[in-house]
Amino acid sequence: MNLLPFGKLAAAKPRSFVPATVNLGDWPQIEPLFKELESRAARAASAADLEKWLLDWSELSAALDEEFSRRYIAMTCHTDNPDAEKAYLDFLENVEPQLKPRQFALEKIYVANAYRTKLPTGRFEVFDRDVKNHVELFRPENVALETEEAKLSQQYQKLIGAQTVNFRGEEKTLVQMGRYLEEPDGALRQEAWESVAKRRLQDAEKCEEIFEELIQLRTRIAKNAGCENYRDFAFRQKGRFDYTWRDCVQFHDAVEKEIVPAVRQIQQERKRQLQLDKLRPWDLSVDPQNRPPLKPFGEVGEMVSRTQKIFDRLDPELAAGFRQMQDLKLLDLDNRKGKAPGGYQSTLSEARVPFIFMNAVGLQRDVETLLHEAGHAFHAQATRGEDLYSYRNAPIEFCEVASMSMELLGNEFLEEFYPVPQANRARKTHLEGIIGFFPWMATVDAFQHWIYTHANHTRAERKAAYLQLMDRFGGEVDWSSYEEARAHSWHRQLHIFIHPFYYVEYGIAQLGALQVWANSRRNPATALTAYKKALALGGSRPLPELFSAAGCRFQFDAATINPLIELASLELKKL
Ligand SMILES: [Zn+2]
Repeated sequence: MNLLPFGKLAAAKPRSFVPATVNLGDWPQIEPLFKELESRAARAASAADLEKWLLDWSELSAALDEEFSRRYIAMTCHTDNPDAEKAYLDFLENVEPQLKPRQFALEKIYVANAYRTKLPTGRFEVFDRDVKNHVELFRPENVALETEEAKLSQQYQKLIGAQTVNFRGEEKTLVQMGRYLEEPDGALRQEAWESVAKRRLQDAEKCEEIFEELIQLRTRIAKNAGCENYRDFAFRQKGRFDYTWRDCVQFHDAVEKEIVPAVRQIQQERKRQLQLDKLRPWDLSVDPQNRPPLKPFGEVGEMVSRTQKIFDRLDPELAAGFRQMQDLKLLDLDNRKGKAPGGYQSTLSEARVPFIFMNAVGLQRDVETLLHEAGHAFHAQATRGEDLYSYRNAPIEFCEVASMSMELLGNEFLEEFYPVPQANRARKTHLEGIIGFFPWMATVDAFQHWIYTHANHTRAERKAAYLQLMDRFGGEVDWSSYEEARAHSWHRQLHIFIHPFYYVEYGIAQLGALQVWANSRRNPATALTAYKKALALGGSRPLPELFSAAGCRFQFDAATINPLIELASLELKKL
Protein backbone atom coordinates (compact mmCIF):
# COMPACT_ATOMS: atom_id res chain seq x y z
CA MET A 1 0.00 0.00 0.00
CA ASN A 2 1.37 3.38 -0.97
CA LEU A 3 1.00 5.67 2.02
CA LEU A 4 2.36 8.69 0.20
CA PRO A 5 -0.14 11.04 -1.45
CA PHE A 6 2.09 11.28 -4.54
CA GLY A 7 3.19 8.51 -6.86
CA LYS A 8 6.63 7.61 -8.13
CA LEU A 9 8.78 10.67 -8.67
CA ALA A 10 11.80 10.56 -10.94
CA ALA A 11 15.12 11.84 -9.60
CA ALA A 12 15.93 15.29 -10.98
CA LYS A 13 19.27 13.90 -12.08
CA PRO A 14 20.13 10.22 -12.66
CA ARG A 15 22.30 8.80 -9.87
CA SER A 16 25.96 8.23 -10.63
CA PHE A 17 27.20 7.10 -7.22
CA VAL A 18 24.39 5.63 -5.11
CA PRO A 19 23.33 2.25 -6.57
CA ALA A 20 19.70 2.08 -7.71
CA THR A 21 19.20 -1.12 -5.73
CA VAL A 22 20.40 0.11 -2.33
CA ASN A 23 17.86 0.12 0.50
CA LEU A 24 18.28 3.55 2.08
CA GLY A 25 16.51 2.46 5.23
CA ASP A 26 19.09 -0.24 5.99
CA TRP A 27 22.33 0.95 7.58
CA PRO A 28 24.45 -2.10 6.57
CA GLN A 29 23.69 -1.25 2.94
CA ILE A 30 24.38 2.47 3.40
CA GLU A 31 27.63 2.21 5.35
CA PRO A 32 29.80 0.98 2.42
CA LEU A 33 28.94 4.20 0.57
CA PHE A 34 30.30 6.29 3.44
CA LYS A 35 33.37 4.05 3.62
CA GLU A 36 34.00 4.55 -0.04
CA LEU A 37 33.75 8.32 0.26
CA GLU A 38 36.00 8.29 3.32
CA SER A 39 38.78 6.44 1.54
CA ARG A 40 38.38 8.02 -1.87
CA ALA A 41 39.04 11.61 -0.74
CA ALA A 42 42.65 10.76 0.02
CA ARG A 43 43.12 9.55 -3.57
CA ALA A 44 41.91 12.84 -5.07
CA ALA A 45 44.64 14.01 -7.46
CA SER A 46 43.11 17.32 -8.50
CA ALA A 47 40.52 19.91 -7.54
CA ALA A 48 38.27 18.33 -10.18
CA ASP A 49 38.50 14.99 -8.34
CA LEU A 50 37.55 16.68 -5.10
CA GLU A 51 34.65 18.43 -6.80
CA LYS A 52 33.35 15.11 -8.15
CA TRP A 53 33.73 13.68 -4.64
CA LEU A 54 31.63 16.54 -3.25
CA LEU A 55 28.92 15.87 -5.83
CA ASP A 56 28.83 12.16 -4.96
CA TRP A 57 28.58 13.02 -1.28
CA SER A 58 25.81 15.43 -2.23
CA GLU A 59 23.96 12.71 -4.12
CA LEU A 60 24.15 10.39 -1.12
CA SER A 61 22.95 13.11 1.27
CA ALA A 62 20.02 13.96 -0.99
CA ALA A 63 19.01 10.31 -1.37
CA LEU A 64 19.07 9.81 2.41
CA ASP A 65 17.24 13.06 2.99
CA GLU A 66 14.49 12.01 0.61
CA GLU A 67 14.23 8.61 2.27
CA PHE A 68 13.71 10.35 5.61
CA SER A 69 11.19 12.82 4.16
CA ARG A 70 9.15 10.06 2.53
CA ARG A 71 8.87 8.23 5.83
CA TYR A 72 8.09 11.43 7.70
CA ILE A 73 5.39 12.43 5.22
CA ALA A 74 3.80 8.96 5.27
CA MET A 75 3.78 9.00 9.08
CA THR A 76 2.26 12.48 9.42
CA CYS A 77 -0.39 11.74 6.78
CA HIS A 78 -1.32 8.44 8.49
CA THR A 79 -0.62 8.69 12.23
CA ASP A 80 -3.02 5.75 12.73
CA ASN A 81 -1.07 3.41 10.44
CA PRO A 82 1.33 1.16 12.41
CA ASP A 83 3.47 0.38 9.32
CA ALA A 84 4.05 4.07 8.63
CA GLU A 85 4.97 4.66 12.27
CA LYS A 86 7.32 1.69 12.32
CA ALA A 87 9.10 2.73 9.13
CA TYR A 88 9.62 6.24 10.48
CA LEU A 89 10.86 5.16 13.90
CA ASP A 90 13.08 2.54 12.32
CA PHE A 91 14.91 5.22 10.34
CA LEU A 92 15.15 7.48 13.40
CA GLU A 93 16.54 4.73 15.60
CA ASN A 94 18.72 2.72 13.24
CA VAL A 95 19.90 5.05 10.48
CA GLU A 96 19.88 8.61 11.79
CA PRO A 97 22.25 8.06 14.78
CA GLN A 98 24.77 6.39 12.45
CA LEU A 99 24.56 9.19 9.89
CA LYS A 100 25.53 12.08 12.13
CA PRO A 101 29.08 10.95 13.02
CA ARG A 102 29.73 9.72 9.47
CA GLN A 103 28.62 13.00 7.91
CA PHE A 104 30.88 14.80 10.36
CA ALA A 105 33.78 12.48 9.46
CA LEU A 106 33.34 13.48 5.81
CA GLU A 107 33.36 17.15 6.79
CA LYS A 108 36.68 16.67 8.60
CA ILE A 109 38.10 14.82 5.62
CA TYR A 110 37.02 17.64 3.34
CA VAL A 111 38.57 20.36 5.53
CA ALA A 112 41.87 18.44 5.67
CA ASN A 113 42.01 17.81 1.91
CA ALA A 114 44.92 19.41 0.08
CA TYR A 115 42.79 20.37 -2.95
CA ARG A 116 40.21 22.22 -0.90
CA THR A 117 41.88 25.57 -1.41
CA LYS A 118 42.18 24.89 -5.15
CA LEU A 119 38.41 24.66 -5.67
CA PRO A 120 36.85 27.54 -7.64
CA THR A 121 36.48 30.17 -4.90
CA GLY A 122 33.26 31.90 -5.91
CA ARG A 123 31.51 28.60 -6.31
CA PHE A 124 32.55 26.96 -3.05
CA GLU A 125 33.14 29.89 -0.70
CA VAL A 126 29.86 29.56 1.23
CA PHE A 127 30.01 25.77 1.46
CA ASP A 128 33.62 25.95 2.56
CA ARG A 129 33.09 28.47 5.34
CA ASP A 130 30.12 26.50 6.70
CA VAL A 131 31.92 23.17 6.81
CA LYS A 132 35.15 24.64 8.16
CA ASN A 133 33.27 26.47 10.91
CA HIS A 134 31.37 23.32 11.88
CA VAL A 135 34.55 21.28 12.13
CA GLU A 136 36.46 23.95 14.01
CA LEU A 137 33.74 24.44 16.58
CA PHE A 138 33.44 20.76 17.45
CA ARG A 139 34.75 19.63 20.84
CA PRO A 140 34.44 15.98 21.90
CA GLU A 141 33.93 17.08 25.52
CA ASN A 142 30.80 18.98 24.46
CA VAL A 143 29.01 15.88 23.18
CA ALA A 144 27.95 14.74 26.66
CA LEU A 145 27.03 18.30 27.65
CA GLU A 146 24.83 18.63 24.58
CA THR A 147 23.06 15.41 25.48
CA GLU A 148 22.47 16.90 28.94
CA GLU A 149 21.13 20.03 27.28
CA ALA A 150 18.75 17.99 25.11
CA LYS A 151 17.46 16.18 28.20
CA LEU A 152 16.76 19.44 30.00
CA SER A 153 14.99 20.74 26.90
CA GLN A 154 12.85 17.66 26.93
CA GLN A 155 12.04 18.19 30.64
CA TYR A 156 10.83 21.67 29.80
CA GLN A 157 8.66 20.36 26.97
CA LYS A 158 7.20 17.70 29.22
CA LEU A 159 6.43 20.28 31.88
CA ILE A 160 4.70 22.62 29.43
CA GLY A 161 2.96 19.78 27.57
CA ALA A 162 1.36 18.53 30.80
CA GLN A 163 -0.19 21.90 31.65
CA THR A 164 -3.99 21.81 31.59
CA VAL A 165 -6.72 23.77 33.31
CA ASN A 166 -10.17 22.87 34.46
CA PHE A 167 -12.31 25.47 32.79
CA ARG A 168 -16.05 25.55 33.34
CA GLY A 169 -16.09 21.88 34.24
CA GLU A 170 -13.86 20.64 31.43
CA GLU A 171 -10.16 19.82 31.33
CA LYS A 172 -8.48 21.80 28.57
CA THR A 173 -4.94 22.18 27.28
CA LEU A 174 -3.53 25.70 27.22
CA VAL A 175 -3.53 25.60 23.41
CA GLN A 176 -7.27 24.85 23.49
CA MET A 177 -7.73 27.76 25.90
CA GLY A 178 -6.38 30.15 23.26
CA ARG A 179 -9.74 30.02 21.50
CA TYR A 180 -11.45 31.87 24.39
CA LEU A 181 -9.26 34.91 23.84
CA GLU A 182 -11.16 35.46 20.59
CA GLU A 183 -14.54 35.53 22.35
CA PRO A 184 -16.44 38.86 22.24
CA ASP A 185 -17.44 38.48 25.92
CA GLY A 186 -14.74 40.34 27.87
CA ALA A 187 -15.52 38.66 31.20
CA LEU A 188 -15.17 35.23 29.62
CA ARG A 189 -11.84 36.21 28.07
CA GLN A 190 -10.58 37.46 31.40
CA GLU A 191 -11.64 34.31 33.23
CA ALA A 192 -9.94 32.10 30.62
CA TRP A 193 -6.77 34.20 30.59
CA GLU A 194 -6.56 34.24 34.41
CA SER A 195 -6.92 30.48 34.68
CA VAL A 196 -4.12 29.98 32.15
CA ALA A 197 -1.85 32.56 33.81
CA LYS A 198 -2.44 30.94 37.21
CA ARG A 199 -1.65 27.48 35.86
CA ARG A 200 1.56 28.70 34.24
CA LEU A 201 2.71 30.31 37.47
CA GLN A 202 2.40 26.97 39.27
CA ASP A 203 5.33 25.76 37.18
CA ALA A 204 7.30 29.01 37.32
CA GLU A 205 9.75 27.71 39.90
CA LYS A 206 10.49 24.57 37.85
CA CYS A 207 10.93 26.62 34.68
CA GLU A 208 13.42 28.87 36.45
CA GLU A 209 15.36 25.87 37.74
CA ILE A 210 15.53 24.17 34.35
CA PHE A 211 16.59 27.43 32.76
CA GLU A 212 19.35 28.03 35.30
CA GLU A 213 20.77 24.58 34.62
CA LEU A 214 20.63 25.33 30.89
CA ILE A 215 22.54 28.59 31.36
CA GLN A 216 25.27 26.77 33.30
CA LEU A 217 25.57 24.03 30.69
CA ARG A 218 25.60 26.42 27.75
CA THR A 219 28.24 28.57 29.38
CA ARG A 220 30.44 25.50 29.83
CA ILE A 221 29.88 24.44 26.22
CA ALA A 222 30.92 27.92 25.06
CA LYS A 223 34.04 27.98 27.23
CA ASN A 224 35.04 24.51 26.01
CA ALA A 225 34.86 25.80 22.45
CA GLY A 226 37.10 28.73 23.33
CA CYS A 227 34.35 31.35 23.29
CA GLU A 228 34.09 34.08 25.89
CA ASN A 229 30.36 33.55 26.41
CA TYR A 230 27.48 31.54 25.01
CA ARG A 231 26.31 34.38 22.80
CA ASP A 232 29.61 34.30 20.91
CA PHE A 233 29.31 30.53 20.64
CA ALA A 234 25.70 30.61 19.43
CA PHE A 235 26.50 33.15 16.70
CA ARG A 236 29.30 30.93 15.41
CA GLN A 237 27.33 27.74 15.75
CA LYS A 238 24.48 29.20 13.74
CA GLY A 239 26.91 30.22 11.01
CA ARG A 240 26.10 33.90 11.42
CA PHE A 241 29.01 35.15 9.37
CA ASP A 242 27.13 38.03 7.82
CA TYR A 243 25.90 39.86 10.92
CA THR A 244 27.10 40.28 14.49
CA TRP A 245 25.53 40.67 17.92
CA ARG A 246 26.05 44.42 17.51
CA ASP A 247 23.75 44.39 14.47
CA CYS A 248 21.13 42.63 16.58
CA VAL A 249 21.47 45.19 19.37
CA GLN A 250 21.02 47.91 16.75
CA PHE A 251 17.93 46.02 15.55
CA HIS A 252 16.43 46.09 19.09
CA ASP A 253 17.03 49.85 19.28
CA ALA A 254 15.47 50.41 15.87
CA VAL A 255 12.40 48.37 16.84
CA GLU A 256 12.01 50.49 19.98
CA LYS A 257 12.34 53.73 18.07
CA GLU A 258 10.50 52.95 14.83
CA ILE A 259 8.04 50.14 15.55
CA VAL A 260 6.89 50.39 19.17
CA PRO A 261 5.15 53.75 18.49
CA ALA A 262 3.24 52.12 15.58
CA VAL A 263 2.24 49.23 17.82
CA ARG A 264 1.01 51.66 20.49
CA GLN A 265 -1.12 53.36 17.87
CA ILE A 266 -2.65 50.07 16.75
CA GLN A 267 -3.34 49.17 20.38
CA GLN A 268 -4.93 52.56 21.07
CA GLU A 269 -7.25 52.07 18.12
CA ARG A 270 -8.12 48.60 19.38
CA LYS A 271 -8.90 50.01 22.83
CA ARG A 272 -11.15 52.64 21.31
CA GLN A 273 -12.99 50.13 19.11
CA LEU A 274 -13.50 47.77 22.03
CA GLN A 275 -14.67 50.78 24.11
CA LEU A 276 -12.30 49.99 26.96
CA ASP A 277 -10.50 52.36 29.36
CA LYS A 278 -7.50 50.07 29.51
CA LEU A 279 -6.22 47.35 27.24
CA ARG A 280 -5.64 44.22 29.30
CA PRO A 281 -3.61 41.13 28.33
CA TRP A 282 -6.79 39.24 27.39
CA ASP A 283 -7.98 41.93 24.94
CA LEU A 284 -5.35 41.38 22.26
CA SER A 285 -6.76 38.56 20.09
CA VAL A 286 -10.47 39.34 19.88
CA ASP A 287 -11.75 41.04 16.74
CA PRO A 288 -11.93 44.72 17.78
CA GLN A 289 -15.34 45.08 16.14
CA ASN A 290 -16.69 41.79 17.50
CA ARG A 291 -17.29 40.40 14.04
CA PRO A 292 -17.57 36.62 13.45
CA PRO A 293 -14.48 34.91 11.95
CA LEU A 294 -13.89 35.23 8.20
CA LYS A 295 -14.87 32.20 6.11
CA PRO A 296 -12.62 32.14 3.05
CA PHE A 297 -13.75 28.77 1.65
CA GLY A 298 -15.79 25.64 2.25
CA GLU A 299 -13.91 22.73 0.74
CA VAL A 300 -10.13 22.44 0.54
CA GLY A 301 -10.43 22.07 -3.24
CA GLU A 302 -11.87 25.57 -3.29
CA MET A 303 -8.95 26.90 -1.25
CA VAL A 304 -6.53 25.39 -3.78
CA SER A 305 -8.29 26.66 -6.89
CA ARG A 306 -8.65 30.18 -5.48
CA THR A 307 -5.01 30.22 -4.39
CA GLN A 308 -4.13 29.08 -7.91
CA LYS A 309 -6.00 32.13 -9.23
CA ILE A 310 -3.95 34.36 -6.94
CA PHE A 311 -0.73 32.95 -8.40
CA ASP A 312 -2.14 33.20 -11.93
CA ARG A 313 -2.53 36.92 -11.35
CA LEU A 314 0.84 37.25 -9.63
CA ASP A 315 3.23 35.49 -11.99
CA PRO A 316 2.95 32.80 -14.72
CA GLU A 317 6.06 30.93 -13.60
CA LEU A 318 4.99 30.65 -9.97
CA ALA A 319 1.47 29.78 -11.12
CA ALA A 320 2.87 26.90 -13.19
CA GLY A 321 4.87 25.71 -10.17
CA PHE A 322 1.76 25.57 -7.99
CA ARG A 323 -0.20 23.82 -10.75
CA GLN A 324 2.54 21.22 -11.03
CA MET A 325 2.26 20.53 -7.30
CA GLN A 326 -1.43 19.75 -7.79
CA ASP A 327 -0.75 17.55 -10.83
CA LEU A 328 1.91 15.55 -8.99
CA LYS A 329 -0.24 15.36 -5.82
CA LEU A 330 2.32 17.18 -3.73
CA LEU A 331 -0.32 18.77 -1.51
CA ASP A 332 -2.07 17.19 1.47
CA LEU A 333 -4.05 20.04 2.93
CA ASP A 334 -7.33 18.96 4.50
CA ASN A 335 -7.75 18.31 8.18
CA ARG A 336 -8.89 14.73 8.72
CA LYS A 337 -8.72 12.01 11.34
CA GLY A 338 -5.36 10.25 11.47
CA LYS A 339 -3.29 13.25 10.42
CA ALA A 340 -0.59 14.88 12.53
CA PRO A 341 -1.36 18.47 13.62
CA GLY A 342 0.18 21.61 12.15
CA GLY A 343 1.62 22.38 8.75
CA TYR A 344 4.98 22.16 7.04
CA GLN A 345 6.72 22.27 3.70
CA SER A 346 9.13 19.47 2.97
CA THR A 347 11.36 18.83 -0.03
CA LEU A 348 11.96 15.50 -1.70
CA SER A 349 15.63 16.11 -2.19
CA GLU A 350 16.34 13.67 -4.99
CA ALA A 351 13.29 14.43 -7.09
CA ARG A 352 13.92 18.06 -6.06
CA VAL A 353 10.23 18.79 -5.67
CA PRO A 354 8.38 20.35 -2.74
CA PHE A 355 5.53 18.92 -0.70
CA ILE A 356 3.05 20.85 1.48
CA PHE A 357 1.25 19.42 4.49
CA MET A 358 -1.53 21.31 6.31
CA ASN A 359 -4.68 20.89 8.37
CA ALA A 360 -7.04 23.38 6.77
CA VAL A 361 -10.41 23.88 8.45
CA GLY A 362 -11.78 26.90 6.59
CA LEU A 363 -10.16 29.86 8.36
CA GLN A 364 -8.27 32.87 7.02
CA ARG A 365 -5.25 31.48 8.88
CA ASP A 366 -5.32 28.52 6.42
CA VAL A 367 -5.09 30.85 3.42
CA GLU A 368 -2.11 32.60 5.04
CA THR A 369 -0.43 29.29 5.80
CA LEU A 370 -0.87 28.04 2.25
CA LEU A 371 0.59 31.25 0.79
CA HIS A 372 3.49 30.98 3.27
CA GLU A 373 4.27 27.33 2.54
CA ALA A 374 3.87 27.94 -1.19
CA GLY A 375 6.63 30.56 -0.87
CA HIS A 376 8.89 27.87 0.60
CA ALA A 377 7.81 25.48 -2.17
CA PHE A 378 8.68 28.06 -4.86
CA HIS A 379 12.11 28.32 -3.26
CA ALA A 380 12.61 24.56 -3.62
CA GLN A 381 11.43 24.64 -7.23
CA ALA A 382 13.74 27.56 -8.03
CA THR A 383 16.86 25.65 -6.88
CA ARG A 384 16.04 22.48 -8.84
CA GLY A 385 19.01 22.94 -11.18
CA GLU A 386 21.55 23.18 -8.33
CA ASP A 387 23.62 20.00 -7.97
CA LEU A 388 25.28 20.74 -4.65
CA TYR A 389 22.84 19.47 -2.02
CA SER A 390 23.63 22.08 0.63
CA TYR A 391 23.09 24.94 -1.84
CA ARG A 392 19.53 23.82 -2.49
CA ASN A 393 18.74 25.20 0.98
CA ALA A 394 19.14 28.84 1.94
CA PRO A 395 19.82 30.05 5.49
CA ILE A 396 16.63 30.46 7.53
CA GLU A 397 16.97 34.28 7.46
CA PHE A 398 16.35 34.10 3.73
CA CYS A 399 14.05 31.03 3.54
CA GLU A 400 11.53 33.03 5.48
CA VAL A 401 11.87 35.96 3.10
CA ALA A 402 10.64 33.59 0.37
CA SER A 403 7.61 32.54 2.42
CA MET A 404 6.73 35.78 4.20
CA SER A 405 6.98 37.78 0.95
CA MET A 406 4.48 35.38 -0.59
CA GLU A 407 1.99 36.11 2.20
CA LEU A 408 2.23 39.83 1.47
CA LEU A 409 2.26 39.51 -2.32
CA GLY A 410 -0.55 36.95 -2.35
CA ASN A 411 -2.67 39.05 0.01
CA GLU A 412 -2.86 41.74 -2.66
CA PHE A 413 -5.25 39.40 -4.52
CA LEU A 414 -7.37 38.20 -1.58
CA GLU A 415 -10.42 39.31 -3.58
CA GLU A 416 -10.19 35.81 -5.09
CA PHE A 417 -11.59 34.71 -1.71
CA TYR A 418 -13.65 37.64 -0.45
CA PRO A 419 -15.58 40.77 -1.32
CA VAL A 420 -13.42 43.89 -0.85
CA PRO A 421 -14.38 44.73 2.78
CA GLN A 422 -13.52 41.24 4.06
CA ALA A 423 -10.34 41.13 2.00
CA ASN A 424 -9.34 44.43 3.60
CA ARG A 425 -10.12 43.07 7.05
CA ALA A 426 -7.86 40.06 6.41
CA ARG A 427 -5.06 42.29 5.11
CA LYS A 428 -5.39 44.57 8.11
CA THR A 429 -5.14 41.71 10.62
CA HIS A 430 -2.14 40.34 8.74
CA LEU A 431 -0.25 43.64 8.64
CA GLU A 432 -0.99 44.35 12.30
CA GLY A 433 0.34 40.90 13.11
CA ILE A 434 3.59 41.63 11.27
CA ILE A 435 4.12 44.96 13.04
CA GLY A 436 3.13 43.50 16.41
CA PHE A 437 5.63 40.66 16.09
CA PHE A 438 8.74 42.87 16.08
CA PRO A 439 8.60 44.12 19.70
CA TRP A 440 8.15 40.58 21.03
CA MET A 441 10.99 39.37 18.80
CA ALA A 442 13.20 42.16 20.20
CA THR A 443 12.21 41.26 23.77
CA VAL A 444 13.04 37.58 23.31
CA ASP A 445 16.33 38.33 21.57
CA ALA A 446 17.53 41.16 23.83
CA PHE A 447 16.67 39.09 26.90
CA GLN A 448 18.95 36.29 25.72
CA HIS A 449 21.74 38.73 24.90
CA TRP A 450 21.54 39.91 28.51
CA ILE A 451 21.27 36.39 29.98
CA TYR A 452 24.34 34.93 28.33
CA THR A 453 26.55 37.98 28.73
CA HIS A 454 25.66 38.07 32.47
CA ALA A 455 25.99 34.35 33.09
CA ASN A 456 26.43 34.74 36.86
CA HIS A 457 23.32 36.82 37.47
CA THR A 458 20.87 36.15 40.29
CA ARG A 459 17.24 35.29 39.80
CA ALA A 460 16.20 38.74 40.99
CA GLU A 461 18.54 40.40 38.51
CA ARG A 462 17.12 38.30 35.71
CA LYS A 463 13.59 39.29 36.64
CA ALA A 464 14.56 42.96 36.70
CA ALA A 465 16.26 42.67 33.30
CA TYR A 466 13.17 41.08 31.78
CA LEU A 467 10.80 43.62 33.28
CA GLN A 468 12.93 46.39 31.88
CA LEU A 469 12.48 44.87 28.41
CA MET A 470 8.73 44.53 28.96
CA ASP A 471 8.63 48.25 29.79
CA ARG A 472 10.65 49.01 26.69
CA PHE A 473 8.74 46.85 24.19
CA GLY A 474 5.44 45.98 25.89
CA GLY A 475 3.27 48.76 24.44
CA GLU A 476 -0.04 49.93 25.92
CA VAL A 477 -1.06 46.74 27.71
CA ASP A 478 -2.05 47.19 31.36
CA TRP A 479 -0.91 44.24 33.50
CA SER A 480 -1.80 45.67 36.94
CA SER A 481 -2.71 42.96 39.49
CA TYR A 482 -0.86 40.45 37.30
CA GLU A 483 2.72 41.52 37.98
CA GLU A 484 3.98 37.98 38.58
CA ALA A 485 2.43 36.69 35.36
CA ARG A 486 4.07 39.56 33.51
CA ALA A 487 7.48 38.98 35.07
CA HIS A 488 7.39 35.32 34.01
CA SER A 489 5.70 35.68 30.64
CA TRP A 490 8.86 34.51 28.88
CA HIS A 491 8.39 31.01 30.30
CA ARG A 492 5.99 30.15 27.50
CA GLN A 493 8.48 31.09 24.76
CA LEU A 494 9.86 27.68 23.85
CA HIS A 495 12.77 29.09 21.83
CA ILE A 496 14.40 30.61 24.92
CA PHE A 497 14.62 27.16 26.47
CA ILE A 498 15.09 24.87 23.49
CA HIS A 499 16.54 26.90 20.62
CA PRO A 500 18.66 29.63 22.21
CA PHE A 501 19.14 32.72 20.03
CA TYR A 502 16.95 31.26 17.30
CA TYR A 503 14.26 33.93 16.87
CA VAL A 504 15.83 37.08 15.48
CA GLU A 505 15.93 35.25 12.11
CA TYR A 506 12.18 35.84 11.77
CA GLY A 507 12.62 39.55 12.38
CA ILE A 508 15.41 39.76 9.81
CA ALA A 509 13.35 37.82 7.27
CA GLN A 510 10.28 39.94 7.89
CA LEU A 511 12.33 43.05 7.07
CA GLY A 512 13.25 41.38 3.78
CA ALA A 513 9.64 40.43 3.05
CA LEU A 514 8.41 43.95 3.76
CA GLN A 515 11.02 45.28 1.34
CA VAL A 516 9.95 42.84 -1.41
CA TRP A 517 6.38 44.00 -0.84
CA ALA A 518 7.37 47.69 -0.86
CA ASN A 519 9.29 47.11 -4.10
CA SER A 520 6.28 45.42 -5.68
CA ARG A 521 4.16 48.45 -4.78
CA ARG A 522 6.54 50.56 -6.85
CA ASN A 523 7.07 48.09 -9.68
CA PRO A 524 5.47 44.65 -9.44
CA ALA A 525 7.32 43.11 -12.41
CA THR A 526 10.80 44.18 -11.29
CA ALA A 527 10.12 43.12 -7.70
CA LEU A 528 8.97 39.67 -8.77
CA THR A 529 11.88 39.15 -11.15
CA ALA A 530 14.31 40.00 -8.33
CA TYR A 531 12.42 37.76 -5.89
CA LYS A 532 12.65 34.77 -8.25
CA LYS A 533 16.29 35.46 -9.05
CA ALA A 534 17.16 35.49 -5.34
CA LEU A 535 15.23 32.27 -4.72
CA ALA A 536 17.15 30.55 -7.51
CA LEU A 537 20.43 31.28 -5.71
CA GLY A 538 19.39 28.88 -2.94
CA GLY A 539 22.11 28.89 -0.31
CA SER A 540 24.99 29.43 -2.72
CA ARG A 541 25.70 33.04 -1.74
CA PRO A 542 26.12 34.90 1.59
CA LEU A 543 23.03 36.54 3.09
CA PRO A 544 23.78 40.12 1.98
CA GLU A 545 23.93 38.90 -1.63
CA LEU A 546 20.71 36.93 -1.35
CA PHE A 547 18.99 39.99 0.04
CA SER A 548 20.41 42.32 -2.56
CA ALA A 549 19.44 39.93 -5.39
CA ALA A 550 15.88 40.14 -4.02
CA GLY A 551 16.11 43.92 -4.14
CA CYS A 552 16.52 44.34 -0.37
CA ARG A 553 19.06 45.87 2.00
CA PHE A 554 20.57 43.50 4.51
CA GLN A 555 20.43 45.97 7.38
CA PHE A 556 18.35 46.07 10.53
CA ASP A 557 18.69 49.73 11.39
CA ALA A 558 16.22 52.57 11.74
CA ALA A 559 16.96 53.84 8.21
CA THR A 560 15.83 50.50 6.74
CA ILE A 561 12.85 50.05 9.04
CA ASN A 562 11.43 53.57 8.98
CA PRO A 563 10.09 53.63 5.39
CA LEU A 564 8.69 50.10 5.76
CA ILE A 565 6.69 50.97 8.85
CA GLU A 566 5.57 54.17 7.20
CA LEU A 567 4.25 52.20 4.23
CA ALA A 568 2.55 49.64 6.46
CA SER A 569 0.97 52.35 8.63
CA LEU A 570 -0.27 54.23 5.56
CA GLU A 571 -1.71 51.00 4.20
CA LEU A 572 -3.44 50.26 7.52
CA LYS A 573 -5.15 53.63 7.40
CA LYS A 574 -6.64 52.72 4.01
CA LEU A 575 -7.94 49.31 5.10
ZN1 LIG B 1 8.28 29.29 7.11
